Amino acid sequence: MNTIDNLKGLNGKKILVRVDFNVPLKGTEVRDDNRVVAALPTIKKLLSEGAALVLMSHLGKIKWGKVDDAEIAKEKEKNNMEYVYPVLAKHLDGVTVKFCKATSGDELKEAIAGLKAGEVLLVQNTRYEKGESKNDAKLSAEWASYVDGFVMDAFGSAHRAHASTHGVPEILKKEGKPVALGYLMEKEVKNLGACVKGDVHPYIAILGGFKVSDKIKVIDSLLKKCDKILIGGAMAYTFLKALGNKTGNCPVEDDQLDYAKKCYESGKIMLPVDNVIADGFDNYNPDNIKTINNDVIPDGYQGLDIGPKTIKNYREEIAKAKLIFWNGPMGVFEDEHFQKGTIEVCKAITDNTEAFSVIGGGDSAAAAKQFGYANKFSHVSTGGGASLEMIENDGHLPGIDVIG
Ligand code: AMP
Repeated sequence: MNTIDNLKGLNGKKILVRVDFNVPLKGTEVRDDNRVVAALPTIKKLLSEGAALVLMSHLGKIKWGKVDDAEIAKEKEKNNMEYVYPVLAKHLDGVTVKFCKATSGDELKEAIAGLKAGEVLLVQNTRYEKGESKNDAKLSAEWASYVDGFVMDAFGSAHRAHASTHGVPEILKKEGKPVALGYLMEKEVKNLGACVKGDVHPYIAILGGFKVSDKIKVIDSLLKKCDKILIGGAMAYTFLKALGNKTGNCPVEDDQLDYAKKCYESGKIMLPVDNVIADGFDNYNPDNIKTINNDVIPDGYQGLDIGPKTIKNYREEIAKAKLIFWNGPMGVFEDEHFQKGTIEVCKAITDNTEAFSVIGGGDSAAAAKQFGYANKFSHVSTGGGASLEMIENDGHLPGIDVIG
């Protein structure tokens, strides 16, 4: 792997580090600084080598094209990287940390030119530039022209070929300038790599969440590698309907029924055999929540969590595993009435201390954290979409491949 440990002669060099500071915000306040903390080992290592660091990241979404100027200004204000700046400065106590409001042009050029060895410049949200998400050649060339090298440490964005994740390193590499992966990337590639390789058995995948269609490619890929795939969440009901079951008011994807049936015929798919149901999603009557001893969902009801028999079946399967990949909650874990399945899956996985256990980011990582299990997993990925795409594409992601 081409990591920052291989970079030499960084003293006084300006290095653009693509970090993942896409943190959750509540107004102007950073609700969770995990992503900033996760970038610190790479930042500190590069500073210890005497580099001057230009940190770039996106923050939230700016819907270019769909909205008028006033709305874009509102979205920019909502996703302002300046809110992250004090959090970064606090974690880099003793280091000169500056903020640049501009994402292109003379103001950015001068801010980078004035940066001294051992200093850090955090740049405004990369998505303030329309060309960022389009991997725009001109924008990439401009950013590349201001620096002497590039480090990729934003795993959560590594599945996107954008200017800051792909365009810039591609140009710098062609120019013979140093490019490398940071420590966070190295950890992700190594740990998710075990699930991509899948040569340790029994290998069990646990997939949940909302839609089958979002996970088709990962299911295809995991069916080739895994011994069993345990299904939960709303997507289970598309499988159950495909097998001819009644699914009441569950949000079934009718266009995925044939696909679900074909997957089931592999003999590797396990489905819920009992369910916690309610007479609505967010407008249900709590008195009408029931645990049904089967997988036939009555009309007027929908399944919102897996039931106790399913938990027992999944637990038995998980206990035998040597390698486990989990993505997607088993139910509506945000609601206390429907979180048991997800909690019990966390418990079952972490009780199996012999297995190498990986959470593929997203909601399952949030759930593991919320329920106090996150630090008991072998690895909790920082990227939901990126970890799924990494499995789907046999370890390849644009932001990794470009580094080489
Ligand atoms: P995903 O982003 O596809 O992993 O889906 C995660 C979302 O699926 C979470 O917000 C869960 O609340 C939701 N979810 C999980 N199970 C169900 C279910 N049985 N019915 C409706 N939503 C669900």
